[in-house]
Amino acid sequence: AAPVPAMAEAAMAARVPPDEDGDECLPQYRHLLSPDLLAGQVAFITGGGSGIGFRIAEIFMRHGCRTVIASRNLQRVSEASKKLVAATGQQCLPLSIDVRQPQTIAAAVDEALKEFKRIDILINGAAGNFLCPASALSFNAFKTVIDIDTLGTFNTSKVIFEKYFRDHGGVIVNITATLSYRGQALQVHAGAAKAAIDAMTRHLAVEWGPNNIRVNSLAPGPISGTEGFRRLG
Ligand code: NAP
Repeated sequence: AAPVPAMAEAAMAARVPPDEDGDECLPQYRHLLSPDLLAGQVAFITGGGSGIGFRIAEIFMRHGCRTVIASRNLQRVSEASKKLVAATGQQCLPLSIDVRQPQTIAAAVDEALKEFKRIDILINGAAGNFLCPASALSFNAFKTVIDIDTLGTFNTSKVIFEKYFRDHGGVIVNITATLSYRGQALQVHAGAAKAAIDAMTRHLAVEWGPNNIRVNSLAPGPISGTEGFRRLG
């Protein structure tokens, strides 16, 4: 057989693993980057007990990172943590927070710092979403999505800034969406909430850059195997 050209070989190596329909760790994982890429680091991941946040936690841990996964449902994050530790051999601290309530975030960040002594990365992944035409959306439904997504992202960023990043630097990644780019129907609440987060990302990147804090948004398209996709797909 003809030798496989280098490019094709690289493409094969980079082949996407089979999709997991739910919050299970990958049955197999091939490191594209150094397995030690995040060794010694700690990531605080809101919404880390499910979907995209869960997978981010898994991949970070497979690269040597310790994680804190935080959301409202302690049972959900505790079960997720057991799976993540079993699959990766890294530490994972599950904590209950409501990103709408800064005092719950503050308590969780204190506990995380007590356990791990540092936080290097914040992933703001917690969000709520559903399909609804603007004409049927209640005032409260719109407000709730803004509260969780937009205010929740600000609340968590500010608490971690004050408690750790201001003095030590860090990385913030806000998970947003592409919904507002073209005005997707039935998504005025989520699209508006995520567009505000994209603006917040730019403001905080400028204001906190001098403190050695890097702030970025990551806007995924539809990701299969997630709650978001199951509801919206
Ligand atoms: P998901 O599994 O439903 O994740 C949302 C997470 O947020 C849950 O773990 C939930 O846990 C947590 N959460 C909700 N309200 C909270 C609150 N008040 N305080 C703390 N945590 C809260 O959904 P996903 O689809 O993976 O989405 C993850 C992120 O990616 C979201 O920001 C979403 O907007 C974004 N995104 C997803 C897609 C997609 O196709 N799935 C596409 C673009 C962007 P609890 O219920 O335990 O609180």
